[in-house]
Amino acid sequence: MPSAFSAKDNKALVGICLACQKTTPTALMVSLAGSENGRRKYHPVCLSCADKGWRPPGFSGVYQSRYE
Ligand SMILES: [Zn+2]
Repeated sequence: MPSAFSAKDNKALVGICLACQKTTPTALMVSLAGSENGRRKYHPVCLSCADKGWRPPGFSGVYQSRYE
């Protein structure tokens, strides 16, 4: 990670998709709620993985594509 990187100065925040490990703008990501050890845990994934059907373990909820 370059030291020049600063999230504060960067309007286009990015995150890492848990499913495909790609760096993705957070605007193109969704957080899917799963559960781990009985606790709710959020998994940030990119829209293309979510649309492909990726779901976290223990996923309980409804995912609606932002494309619609
Ligand atoms: Zn992905």
